[in-house]
Amino acid sequence: VVVIGICSIFIKMGSYQPYLQSLKELLHVTDAQLTTVSDRMLQDMTYGLQLSRKSKTQMEMLPSFVDSLPDGSERGAFIGLDLGGTNLRVLLLTLSDPVDNGSKPVADIKSESFKVTKDLLEGTSAQLFDFIAEKMASFAHKNGLVGKKLPVGFTFSFPFDQDRINHAILKAWTKAYHIKDGVGDDVVQMLHDAIARQGDLNCEVVAVCNDTVGTLVSGVAEDQNCQIGLIVGTGTNAAYLEKVSNIESVESQGADRWMCVDMEWEYFADTGCLDQFLTEFDKQVDASSPMPGQFIFEKMISGMYMGEIVRSILCKLAKVDNLFAGNISETLATTDAFLSRYVSDITEEAIAEHGKTEVVTKILSSVGVTPSSEDVVIVQLVCEFVSTRAAHLCAAGVSAIARKIKANHPDENDLVITAGVDGSVYAGHPTFDTMLEDKTAQLCSAHGVKVQFIHAKDGSGKGAALIAA
Ligand code: BGC
Ligand code: MG
Repeated sequence: VVVIGICSIFIKMGSYQPYLQSLKELLHVTDAQLTTVSDRMLQDMTYGLQLSRKSKTQMEMLPSFVDSLPDGSERGAFIGLDLGGTNLRVLLLTLSDPVDNGSKPVADIKSESFKVTKDLLEGTSAQLFDFIAEKMASFAHKNGLVGKKLPVGFTFSFPFDQDRINHAILKAWTKAYHIKDGVGDDVVQMLHDAIARQGDLNCEVVAVCNDTVGTLVSGVAEDQNCQIGLIVGTGTNAAYLEKVSNIESVESQGADRWMCVDMEWEYFADTGCLDQFLTEFDKQVDASSPMPGQFIFEKMISGMYMGEIVRSILCKLAKVDNLFAGNISETLATTDAFLSRYVSDITEEAIAEHGKTEVVTKILSSVGVTPSSEDVVIVQLVCEFVSTRAAHLCAAGVSAIARKIKANHPDENDLVITAGVDGSVYAGHPTFDTMLEDKTAQLCSAHGVKVQFIHAKDGSGKGAALIAA
């Protein structure tokens, strides 16, 4: 229905059609190209696991030291902390005996979220960790936990080096964090110091993990077949279960041990391997981003940039093609004024009911432009092109992971694995999940492996608590 709808729109688009058609082609990554991206990612995964990885790949492939997974026998109360791109979430996970002969423990979650404000994103690491400890303390007060010594699992959505599960040396601040210090320091120590400064908390951080690892682990609690954790939110990244014998930096003790590996795939294209796909809009978004030249793959996929790519296209269309009668408002001309949430909301309306334009009109007027009925359709199409490309590139990545896992199970024909996924784009965009699923299926079809996707809702924090458990 969507395809037919869009085709008929194209026929009606008259003078806009040539430019839109070329824009569509510009943002289209063909199946053959996606296969090449998948091949390259697979190759880079292997390189990244080697000690001699330097310069062969930019992906980190970090061992997480999470080498056992929940099996349903965990009981007790655990704190999960989840620091992401936009929010801090504090949660209390209580696991009690299954009811009615079930095999899964009964999981009760109480949680609270707090926005990470701009001054924290640009402050010092001590300020950020004080904020975390303060929110933990107020959560403990509200939930009657003061004085109870509960184990804490900490999800920290950044890259860090680990040599054990409760030790993490920060490699870089990513996403919108511009904190000057902290790189090279132990994240667990920074949190413990803040907890000590806070005073009335009595807890021990027993595990720290990346959000993709937390998501994988919470996916396992839903589905024992889960071997991939994927985040498509403010940032994007994936983790998966790898054979320890394939991870050169970790001593393997026995052939069948497994460990979650945090790929840090946001760095994947920083070798230049996707440069052929970069449009003038991607280049603009990169140039005006806090870290030009870095996180190119993330910039083509994640929520921190999706709206900004759309905005940059709309400005160009207004300039060269008279979109919005050639009028670029001051707001529309401002970096980051067009939120990725708008892309989701506009798409939602476009597929819900043909011809409805209330939401898109409201969003456009909030950025200071008044669209004609043709303009509305163009904006909807631009949103569609940009998010389709994101979902397809993401699928190329997931198919590479599936192929890697398949290579670790050579004897299993028709292997089916599960991916636990979360993040604002995955959960909030109405068609991202199906586009990701369909394209992954297509890219995997020749490789004897299938991926099932589950939404591991708020899984990263729950996963951290489960790892602590
Ligand atoms: C971070 C990763 C994280 C991902 C998803 C990226 O910007 O560097 O560590 O897993 O975002 O939150
Ligand atoms: Mg998150």
